[in-house]
Order: sequence, then C-alpha cells, then structure tokens
Amino acid sequence: MKSTKEFPAFLNKRLDKRRIFLALIGVMAGFLLVLGRLFWIQVFAAGDYSSRGIDLVANSVDQRQKGIVLDSGRGDFYDKDGKPLTGRTVKALAVFPVRPEFAGDDARIAKLCGILGIKPERWETFVRGMKEPQLWRAERDADPYALTDSQARAIGALELPGIMVLDYRIRYPENSLARQLIGFVGQNPEWIQSHYAEQLANGKITLRTPVGESGLEHTFDSLLRGLGPTSISFFTDAAKRPLKGLDVRMVSPQNPYYPLKVMTTLDSGIQAGIEDLLDRLQVRQGAVVVLDAENADVTAMASRPQLDRRHIRPEAENWANQALKALTPGSVFKTAVAAAALEAGAVRPDEHFECSGELGKYGFSCWKQGGHGSITLEEAFADSCNIAFAEVMKRLTPEQLREAAGKLGLTRPVGWTGEVLEWSGFRQFDAEEAGRVFARDSAVDEGALIQTAIGQRDVLLSPLQAANMVVTLLHGGEVRSPRAVKEIRYRNGRLMIDFPEKTLRSGKEGISGNTAATLLKWMREVVSEGTGKPLQGTLWPVAGKSGTAQVRTGTNPTVHQWFVGYGPVPSPRYAVAVVAENMPADGKNVSLRLFREVMDLLARREGTNRT
Ligand SMILES: [Zn+2]
Repeated sequence: MKSTKEFPAFLNKRLDKRRIFLALIGVMAGFLLVLGRLFWIQVFAAGDYSSRGIDLVANSVDQRQKGIVLDSGRGDFYDKDGKPLTGRTVKALAVFPVRPEFAGDDARIAKLCGILGIKPERWETFVRGMKEPQLWRAERDADPYALTDSQARAIGALELPGIMVLDYRIRYPENSLARQLIGFVGQNPEWIQSHYAEQLANGKITLRTPVGESGLEHTFDSLLRGLGPTSISFFTDAAKRPLKGLDVRMVSPQNPYYPLKVMTTLDSGIQAGIEDLLDRLQVRQGAVVVLDAENADVTAMASRPQLDRRHIRPEAENWANQALKALTPGSVFKTAVAAAALEAGAVRPDEHFECSGELGKYGFSCWKQGGHGSITLEEAFADSCNIAFAEVMKRLTPEQLREAAGKLGLTRPVGWTGEVLEWSGFRQFDAEEAGRVFARDSAVDEGALIQTAIGQRDVLLSPLQAANMVVTLLHGGEVRSPRAVKEIRYRNGRLMIDFPEKTLRSGKEGISGNTAATLLKWMREVVSEGTGKPLQGTLWPVAGKSGTAQVRTGTNPTVHQWFVGYGPVPSPRYAVAVVAENMPADGKNVSLRLFREVMDLLARREGTNRT
C-alpha cells in the first residue's frame, strides 16, 4: 500500500536479542501445557476432554491437520485508563470439515440452526464441500459470529462432532475508536521480505503473516508482534473421518511477558464523543485533534472519511490520518505572521491599517466586502482582515516569517521521536507530514509574500501541528512534542519501555513569553469581538483562530474550514484543532460548530470527572 516503510530491520534484531530468553520460556511453557492436556478454550457442556479421549502425543503421516487461528498473539492498544482499544474475545463457533455421515443427525443439526436463527439449507450450503475448518459468520467478510452465553451452552449440549465453541480474539471490535491513528493490519509480503528477512528465513513468520500496514499498528509493528498465534487443529484421516483419540490440538505460546500492551494517551470517552460528533455533523473529510494543554499528549485524534478496515480503499485514502496531513491553513497561519511581526517589533500597538476591501493589486482582497476601514493589528487578527496582514507582511522578510513559523513548530513533524531500544529514529506517528511556509524552489516576490501572509499559496500545516502551536503559546513559547503512546508494558503489567515527555524547542529558543501572551489574548478577542463570536455560548469560555483556506477556485470553489484554539479560558486544559476539508465555499461553517461541540464535550467530561 505504501512505498515508504521506515521501520528498520535492525530494531527487530535488537528486540529479538531481548526476546530470546522470554521466547524460550514461552515455548517451553507452551509445550508443557499442550503435553499436560491443559486447555484454556471453553467448550461448553461438552467441556470434558478426557471423555472424548483426546490424546495429543501420537501423530501419524496419514492424518490431515486442519487449523484455525483463534488469536494472532499480537499485542493490543489501550487508552490512558487501561481500557482496550483493540482486541475483544468472543465465543465463536468453529466448524471442522467432517463427512456428512459423521456430522451428526438431522434433529441435532436442526436444533443448531434454531439456536443460530438460520434455515437448515443455509447450514447445509455452509458445510457442503468444506475443506478447511471455518468459523461461523453471519455475513461473508464479517468477523466471526459472537455467540451469547446461552447460545454457547445450548450448542455445547448438542455434542455435535466437528463443532466447537471456542474463544476467538477479534482485533477490531465494532465501532472501534481512532481507527486511522491505530491503523490496521494486513498482508504485505513485500514488507515482510524487506523488514523481517531473518524471521522469514528461520520460519518464525511467513509471507502471509499479517503486519501493521498503517498508523500505530505500523510504527509499533515489531513490538506488537507476539510469540505466535493460538491455534486449534483438528485431525481427520484421509477420508475426513474424525480420528478417535486424536481430534483436536491447541497450540498457544503461553508466556507471562507477551503479548505486549501499548498504553496510549487517548481518553476513549472523549474519543468516542468526537467520533459521534463527526458522524452527526456529517463531516465527510477532516480531522479533530485534542491535546492535553499541560504536556501536549494526544487526548483524542479523529479522522474522516471513516476507515472501514474490511474495505481498505487505497484510492479513497480512508486509511490516511487527516490529522497528520499537511493542509492549506488559511488564516490560522496569521498567528505565525502576527508572531513574526510582534517579535520583530514591526507594528506599533496603536498603529492603524486601512482596509477598503481591496489591496489594489494581485487581485488581492479582504473577505469583508467594503472593507474593515481603520483597524489595528489586534483587531485585524480578531476579525481576520487580509489587507492589514498583507501590509504587515510587506515589512517582514521571508526569513523572519519562516523563523517565526519554525519557533511555533510549524515547519517540521512534531510528533514524538527518539530513542527506543537504542534506536534513535523511532517515530510514534505514521506518515506525519511536515508543515511548510515556502516551497523550496518558489520565487518569493511581493505578491507571493502577501498570499503567504494569509496562509495560502505554499503554506501547509497539519491539524496536529496547529493544535501543538496552541500548546506552544500556552507554554510561553516552549514547543512540546505530542505523544500518542506513553509506555509499553509486558503482559504481566511490568514496564518495558516508556516514552518520556519531550520538548522540541526550549522557551529560550522559541518566541518570547510576551509574544505568546499577546497571541493568546488576541485569540480571546477572536471570540469576544471577531470571527469566533458564534463560540460565545460554549459551556466554558474558549479562544482561538479561524481559517478558511481556498483550495479550489472556479465553478465549484471549495475551502478547508479550520478552527484552532483552547479552553477553558482562564486556566486552559485542552488545545484543539478542527478542520472540515473541501467544503463548498458558499456553504455553512461547520468548523465553528464542530469546535464548539468538541469544547462542550470536554467541558461536560471535566464536570463529570470532578463530581
Ligand atoms: Zn479587511
């Protein structure tokens, strides 16, 4: 799917060194358990294995082994409170291929169909010609059907040969959260060949082994990879008769350390609320990022179009995380221009600019027809006046603007990167795009500069960077590095790796504390006086900057609608960026509504947590 796979093979080697000891314990434990006939599957009613005469020692060449993987053994993701984000164990119905005369009498089959709520013909079609064991699914391509406890008991009581109720691990439950951030697993033989050559050679994995294709599944793939799957095999003779005395074998790499647990910084309650919101407001394309104002941890990150992991559409890019995509920011970028102007002392606080609505050249105009009249830079920021910002930009060099944007963390990926198991290039976020002020080869004349001043032309910014810029202002110019994963724990809960909080740029190297404080104040005025007035009724007071970026002109012009800000105002808890992409230019503003509802959701959650 993607051509750039940056995870290095030598990290896998390092992991392996550390793993050898654990793996040995695991393999030994696994065999002991199998030999000891200890099964951790739950077979209801018919759960007494000894009565079915299972003998796991013998194995002869005539036997046909058919198996089902019940659990890939892959590590799971958890939210900040330890609630699972992936992995749910259900009771599934495993059906093994046996000849009709051994499959049980019609009366019992009819009862089974009754329990499953299907017609006997459907069952007949399902089992006819079955060559491999299969799990019962209500629909093709769906996850295996999850039996209720009473269904499982009733099916167990039928004691049908070739049918078992087994614990099955579904990786992505229905309505799973933060899908693009978490990503998905799939088969990727090319990547396995290039990144897991050693494991491939020694038979630890095959070309068909699922690997993380995107998101955290991708960046953390080496760590998530467990010690192998839990599988159950069923033995028949060549004539598909179940072998008496040797019909099922369970293999499971039981180990106290694996699979590992990836502990994210997400708040699943907030994440779920935001996912609902995006659906309710019918945001077709866009993103919401909520960062903890204290340390820039990712509290929530949602992206649309929604990812359906069973139908990955590379061309639709529904797997791509819009929160990490560099997009045209429009007037959100005026924050960087204002920072550059304030740092350079290019504008006096009482100085007035004249906006007639038109600049008079380059076809450059203000969004407000007839213009803003006489306006200070502070007022121009609040009401997003293009003309005043064009005038200010003429006093700045491209280098001054680039430097200010850099100090706000807008010209590089900001997500957590650093040393993990002695490897220094580890990045938590998959495919995070860097922002940009000017394209490398573009000539920057006056016309280009003023377009840049309003966040158009070459300017690009990701929603993650935009939210992190607000955190930077709240920290007086210190640029933090957002994390999505806080630590990795062994299965038994012991800490394996932690990802410490990081600062990308100290306060001394950043914009001044005065500039940061001024910009935060101006963001409050956006809501009290300017383009953010519709946000005045929020549950807690908020502040921020709007942006409407032109992305397509012509007959059906489209815009990206942004709002980036913080709340509650006196003592901010969260920095939030929302963007609704490719909206009709003359349509309603969805981003203001989205920002308001996200903030209200956060305010309500905060209120609930306090009581
Ligand atoms: Zn204006």
